[in-house]
Amino acid sequence: VLCVAQDFDFFYFVQQWPGAYCDSRQRCCYPKTGKPTADFGIHGLWPNYKNGGYPSNCDRDSVFDESQIEDLLPQLQKFWPTLSCPSGDGVKFWTHEWEKHGTCSESEMDQHDYFVAALKLKEKANLLQILKSAGIRPDDGFYEVESIVEAIKEGTGFRPGMECNVDSSRNSQLYQVYMCVDTSGTEFIECPILPKGRCGSSIQFPRF
Ligand code: 5GP
Ligand code: 5GP
Ligand code: 5GP
Repeated sequence: VLCVAQDFDFFYFVQQWPGAYCDSRQRCCYPKTGKPTADFGIHGLWPNYKNGGYPSNCDRDSVFDESQIEDLLPQLQKFWPTLSCPSGDGVKFWTHEWEKHGTCSESEMDQHDYFVAALKLKEKANLLQILKSAGIRPDDGFYEVESIVEAIKEGTGFRPGMECNVDSSRNSQLYQVYMCVDTSGTEFIECPILPKGRCGSSIQFPRF
């Protein structure tokens, strides 16, 4: 795979379903600020190439600097919560995302702009609301993947990519939703290439 640390073609805006992160082999820990609301959270905004490859860690000199996003902390804690263990305040997660991915779109936006862009995209694509309106809600049942894809396409105008993981009973379940965004980080676009989905045809949308 070619990994050129330069330009990029589009972003994947990736949201994670906390129920599926926690209800899996990796288990989870709630952030120090408390259990997140039962909603999709931001995982990241990832520069990508249209051949499916992507640049990463593009600028070793651009370290995450909390003082640049001080004003965004309440929103980041709410919409970009960390679920890994041990419990953290989010800084480790945001640092990882900025340094691995954000540094590859520095030609388009600085650190503050990058986090603002992700928060705005989250506001624009309210997946939980969209799914609920389509009668798809976190419960013990199974859904056809295609019905979830269709609902999101209907609600946002664009076809998303879906990633699943498995729960302790090996049931396939909705873990992450990928939406594509133009290089300015503001407008959703049709995906030039969908991520490799690993979902069964019928999947769970687990409670959180
Ligand atoms: P995994 O191996 O779990 O699929 O991915 C591990 C990490 O690699 C992700 O959290 C993300 O940082 C990065 N990654 C995986 N797939 C993609 C992709 O299609 N595009 C980009 N830009 N990063 C990805
Ligand atoms: P996969 O099995 O999904 O192709 O990739 C496994 C891991 O290899 C990903 O999680 C990611 O960390 C890395 N990887 C795959 N393709 C690329 C790429 O184009 N660029 C970079 N930087 N890492 C990649
Ligand atoms: P990526 O998969 O984007 O390369 O990176 C995910 C990294 O962030 C991993 O090192 C993971 O432990 C950490 N991380 C911290 N909190 C979270 C979370 O809530 N979800 C995910 N997927 N990764 C998290």
